[in-house]
Amino acid sequence: MKTCYKCKLSKPPQKFYFRKETLKYRPLCIKCQLLKNMEYRKSQLGKNTYTEYKSSSAYKIKLFKANKSPKKKLALKRYAKSLNGRLKRNINQTFRYCKQLKAMPKWLDNSQRELIKMNYQLAHYLTEVTGIPHQVDHIYPLQGKNSSGLHVPWNLRVIPAHENQIKKNNII
Ligand SMILES: [Zn+2]
Repeated sequence: MKTCYKCKLSKPPQKFYFRKETLKYRPLCIKCQLLKNMEYRKSQLGKNTYTEYKSSSAYKIKLFKANKSPKKKLALKRYAKSLNGRLKRNINQTFRYCKQLKAMPKWLDNSQRELIKMNYQLAHYLTEVTGIPHQVDHIYPLQGKNSSGLHVPWNLRVIPAHENQIKKNNII
C-alpha cells in the first residue's frame, strides 16, 4: 500500500502513475493527479504563452545565437567593415575563386594554407600602415596567356595595388 501525498489515503500501487525515468511511483494517486492537471489547465486558460515566450530573455538568446537578433546583425555588420572582417572576406573570396578555377591544389596542408593567409594579412597590414593599397599578387597569373599559375604560397607576393593593375595577366 502507498499513501497519497494530497488526499492522505492509502491505496494499492496500481492507483498511482509509474514513472519510467525514475522507476518510482508518483506521490499523488491517479485521481489527485488528474485533478491537479485539470486545475493547471484551467489556470493557463486565457494566457497567451506564445507572446510571453517571445518577450522572454530565453527567446532573445535563441535569436542572438541564430544571428537573427537586431543587436547581433548590427555587430556582424560592424565586424564585416572592420580590418579583420575585410581580411577574412578577402581570403575567403579568393579561396572560392581559386577553387572555381581549380588553381588551388587539394594536397596543400594546413601550414601552407596558413602561409597563404599570412600573405593577405601582410597586404592588409601594409595598406593600413603606409596608406597605399597593397594586394596579393600571383607571380604566375591564375589566368595567364600561356600558362596558369596556382594559388600556392610560393606563387604569391605582396605588391602595391597600382603595380598589380599595370601587370594584369603578364609575368613580370
Ligand atoms: Zn490522492
